[in-house]
Amino acid sequence: MMNFKKSYIYIAVLYLLVAIYIIIDNNPAVTFTLIIFLMIYHFVTFIGVKDKLSEDKQVSVQKLQYKLDETKKESEESYLHFLSLSQTLGSGVIMVNDDGKINFANKDVLEYFDFDFNNKYYEDIQISKPLYKFISKAYLLEQKYRKQIVYEDKYFDLLSTPIFEDDIFKGCLIIIHDITTLRTAENFQKRFTADVSHELKTPLSSIKGISEILNRDRNMEEKDRNEFIEILQKESVRMETILNDLLIISKMDRIDYELTVTEVHIGELVLESTNALKRLAKEKNIELITNVKDEIISVDKNKIEQVIINLIKNAINYTDEGSITVTGYTENDFYTLRVSDTGIGINSEEIENIFKRFYRIDGARSRDSGGSGLGLSIVKNVVLKHGGNIQVDSIKDEGTTFIITLPL
Ligand code: ADP
Repeated sequence: MMNFKKSYIYIAVLYLLVAIYIIIDNNPAVTFTLIIFLMIYHFVTFIGVKDKLSEDKQVSVQKLQYKLDETKKESEESYLHFLSLSQTLGSGVIMVNDDGKINFANKDVLEYFDFDFNNKYYEDIQISKPLYKFISKAYLLEQKYRKQIVYEDKYFDLLSTPIFEDDIFKGCLIIIHDITTLRTAENFQKRFTADVSHELKTPLSSIKGISEILNRDRNMEEKDRNEFIEILQKESVRMETILNDLLIISKMDRIDYELTVTEVHIGELVLESTNALKRLAKEKNIELITNVKDEIISVDKNKIEQVIINLIKNAINYTDEGSITVTGYTENDFYTLRVSDTGIGINSEEIENIFKRFYRIDGARSRDSGGSGLGLSIVKNVVLKHGGNIQVDSIKDEGTTFIITLPL
């Protein structure tokens, strides 16, 4: 800037000197020579400026090129970064370009649909009709689109976002979430709610019907009246048992549920629980034998007591004659508790079902004994929450043994 201004001053001074000289000495030859000199000077300066300009232009072009390269490199890097990130997302990612070609499909998509979509046109992915339909709609609509689809017993949530560059559609990015677990839990919850309503409806209808009869027929015979009252009591106790068990289950289902662990003399706890049920066994003429070694283990006392009571109660309920033996001993860092009966036994194909909520092999017998159908599901839940294990050995019409192991 400084040089530029100085050169102007020099030129101005030069012109002034030439003008003074021409005025003083009016010699045409000298004037002509001076004008020629000035023209040469201007020509040389012009060439210099031109060179400088083309040099500057070259530098600017180089700088621009460098910046362009840098931006390209950066966007390539972020694209690669996006691709590698999408491999670890745990969700499916599909990129469809403006020609309808799948530029990229990550490994989760491959896992979900067992098909490599990379470099295929979306029209060629008829392997999964619902996915094909979704992509075609998302691609043709050129707008945000969301849908849930089912493919081979799995549920997927699909979300497509269109990509625009200067208002020109460049394709779409599709994110796929596997929501099978969520849907299964939802279905399970719905079924469970329906089961609960059904379970409560039966005793409730019976209570309602009987109370109406009792109200209507005031002169009923005392014997009949007592029978009805007995049914009322039985049904209300059944409802209470179901509701109590439901409360326990719903508490244990909570994510933040924690056991109240203390050091417990497990042998003593088993004996206390067994003693409380001796009368029930005696009423059915069943012998209740205990052979339990004491050990101090860290458990939730109330919950383990409930496990023992549920198992012994079941053994009494499903045994018509013979005995029940409760054994407890320590083995390989585990405390093992066995409850054996000589009862009706369980078919091997039924064993995996008996831990399901409200599952009963003989509904009438279970209800008659006052069972809620939730006992074993609570037992399993409690044992697993303690880091333990439960196993069943059973022979139909000979008897059943429940074996529980709890870590010491
Ligand atoms: P319930 O209240 O019906 O006893 P449970 O969850 O405790 O519910 O048990 C589920 C089913 O498992 C019972 O209905 C019964 O058919 C079967 N079961 C449980 N314990 C025994 C057992 N000791 N012997 C034979 N069957 C049993």
